[in-house]
Parts: sequence; structure tokens; C-alpha cells
Amino acid sequence: MGFRLNYIFFYKLRNTLRMTGKSADLKNLKFYIHTFGCQMNNNDSEHIAGILDSCGANPSDSLEESDLVVINTCAVREKSEEKLYSLLGRLNSIREKKEKNFAIGVVGCVAQLHRSKLLEKMPHIDFILGPDNYWQIPEIIPKHHEEKIISTKWSKDWHEIPDEQTLRTSRVSAFVTIMEGCNNFCTYCVVPYTRGREKFRPAPHILTEIQELAQNGYKEIQLLGQNVNSYIDPNSQMGFVKLLRKVNTVEGIDWIRFIASHPKNFSTDIAKAMKESERICHQLHLPVQSGSSSVLHRMNRGYTRKEYQQIIKDLRRQMPDICLSTDIIVGFPGESDKEFQETMSLLEEIRYTNIFSFRYSPRPLTKAENITDDVPFAVKKERLIAVQELQKNIQIETNQSLIGSTIKVLCTGKSKKDQNIYSGRNKGYQVINFSSKKKVMDQFVNVQITSCGPYSLRGHTV
Ligand code: SF4
Repeated sequence: MGFRLNYIFFYKLRNTLRMTGKSADLKNLKFYIHTFGCQMNNNDSEHIAGILDSCGANPSDSLEESDLVVINTCAVREKSEEKLYSLLGRLNSIREKKEKNFAIGVVGCVAQLHRSKLLEKMPHIDFILGPDNYWQIPEIIPKHHEEKIISTKWSKDWHEIPDEQTLRTSRVSAFVTIMEGCNNFCTYCVVPYTRGREKFRPAPHILTEIQELAQNGYKEIQLLGQNVNSYIDPNSQMGFVKLLRKVNTVEGIDWIRFIASHPKNFSTDIAKAMKESERICHQLHLPVQSGSSSVLHRMNRGYTRKEYQQIIKDLRRQMPDICLSTDIIVGFPGESDKEFQETMSLLEEIRYTNIFSFRYSPRPLTKAENITDDVPFAVKKERLIAVQELQKNIQIETNQSLIGSTIKVLCTGKSKKDQNIYSGRNKGYQVINFSSKKKVMDQFVNVQITSCGPYSLRGHTV
């Protein structure tokens, strides 16, 4: 889903580069960033905004009034790419109406995937930067008048973006990237071709960033990476479990989460560390993709239905209150009715708090692209509706069981539908919309749950 960072709510930790004048001068340039995709992309956009800000540029919340538009793209699904082309079309008309200079940059996964082909298709783009290259923005903006710029070279080493160059969208909840890239090559997934192979951020940098966030009043952090479970500190060889335990010792942070995990790399030790670390939320997103072992094999996921069930059993044994979420793909090539029913029965058995479900669509460069996409569109659609209906009923039942209880919530914003209603999440990462007589933005509050829908809980502060 498209996500536009709301600059009105940007918060800076520090901005020393701007003061020392070490960066390129982009004074008074107004920029707008449109972000597609996952939390990692959101965090990258916070870095891009921070880099531009440190050079004197100013965030804008209007496409039309900006001098520079950066689109941070997602290549995971076809739909997101289609939305990119429609946005680029709109930007072209804006540019035609504008008298002054208007630069358009495409960065991230689609930029990496299509490179010069993207420019052939959309010649009004001024620059293209891969996920490993967006930090070059200040150098290339002054040059874009003279030439089109494409920079998509991967680096094996971690490129550290300092805290000073991060404009965060929240004052209390922060993303902290710990690794990037993927070595797994699931047959449907384009990520190893856009983000490259796994590379890991040195642990001292991660811990310093979290300590600084705590000092600046942040209450919640989310460790990010394509496969955080495979984390290894490049210098000390410390693994993910030890990192989690170290992060848990940072005073001031109340809630720690991490995403994305891979069932293949999810060990009992991680579950044990979650149980024993008081700051780590009993909440986990563990993508299963399919409930059928034969489909999982064709997807090259590296685990069976039974092995996945065993992980869930172990997690629930250690943390009976854990909230689980997952990703589901329906209509992977060759998926029979029987195989699809195995996904349905797994959903019924596990009863996730939330799921993200999608119709399979072939992505460039992946192995599955060469397998006939033989599940008809209508069947995929039917299966997606069935999955979502089943899950909706499960969520209604789960949420109804919380009515009458009082839940700790971190308030991070206002409800999209009603600006008089606050919004936040509980430890289980469920959305809670609530009323309060006092101003409670960016605070922990206790909310009594009075009603619910399938996707959120509602109540009032007590
Ligand atoms: S683990 Fe699989 S689905 Fe996840 S990013 Fe890597 S290749 Fe893609």
C-alpha cells in the first residue's frame, strides 16, 4: 500500500550537519517523498528526508508545490508497480504546468529492478537510485539539469546513515534497521534481486542508535530487516538472540519488536529470549505463505507445514499470550483446491491476530516467473476472498473476547476517520481507537475496550 510520510509530524533527533555546513547546499528546496511498500522503505524514506533536511532542503506536504519529488518504490507486487506508473503519469502533468524547475527521482526496489528500462518508459524521470544508493541524493540533485542519472550499484559493506540524518515520522516509535538483503531466493520473491545479498549493520551502531532514541524519549523500537533472524554482527559474530538480549537492556525503551522473521531461521532460542526479556513484546509476524508442504516446497521456503506448526506450538508454550500475524499467498502456480484447503485449515488452527493476504502474481527475474501461472485469475480471486472472510470472522471473535478488558496502549496518532479520536497499538500490535478527555498523544494510556470490528478495537481511557 502506498504510504506518504507526513512531514508535519517529522521529528529530528539532532541536526548538527546542517549547522556545521558539511553537506551539499540545497537551501530552500522543497521536497516531497511518496513511499510504497514495507516498514524498511518507510525507514529509508525517513533517512532520505533526513539527508535532504541536513542539506538545507525543506519537507513539503504538497506534490504541486515541491521542487523535488522522490518516489521510494516497492517491487514485491505487481500492483504497487502499477501505482508507481500512475503516480509518474500524474507528476508528468504537474511538471508540464510548472514554470520553475521540478525534479522527479525514483529510488528503491523498482529503480534497482528496471534501471534504464524505467527511464525508457518514463523519460520525465530525472534520476534513478537503488536501495543502496539513495544517500547519494545531495550529490546528484545539482547535476540532474545536465544529465539523467542512474546509480544502482550494490555495495557489500554496510553504509551507515547517522542519526542526524533521520527525520522520523513519530516522536515515540522508531524503526531501527539491523540488516538488509536476502539470501533465501523464495521462488516468487524479487527481493534478493532488488536489495541484494544479506549484509549486517554492526551491533555497536545499532545499540548506540537505540540508546540515543531512548534519551530522546522514544518508547518503542522495531528492529528491521528482510530476515532479522539471520543477523550476525560483522565484527564480533554475535547472533540475533544475543543482540535481542542486549537491546533489552537499554533503559527507557518499553517495547521492542522485530520484523521480518523467517520460519526457517526461527529457533527455540529466539522464543526463549522473547519470553525472558521483559521489554520484548509478545508479538510476532511469522510469514507462512501457504499451509501446504508441497506448495511451500515449490516456493523454496525451507520448512514444512509440520515444522511451522511446531514453531507456533513452542511459541505458545513459552508465551501463551503471544499475538501472531502472517503473510499468505493464494494461487501460487500449481496450487490445487486440496493445497488451498490446507492453508484454510492452518488459519483455522492457528487463529492469527492479523494476516496480510495476496493473490500470486509473477515477478521479474524470479524462478516462479518461468513456471506457468496456471491458477486462473477468477480462482485466485475466489480463494483470496475465502481466506479474508475466514480470517475476518476469526478476528471478530478474538477481538470480541477483549471487550470489557483494560489494555495498555501507546498513542501514536489520531484515527483516520475521526480527528477527535486517538489511535495507537497495544503490545500485540493491534490497532486501538479511543477517546480521551486529556491530551494523550505520544503517551502510554490504559484503554477500556468497549467495542470492536475485525480490524480494530475501540474504547476510552480510564
Ligand atoms: S525470505 Fe523469501 S520472501 Fe522474504 S525477502 Fe527473502 S526471498 Fe523474499
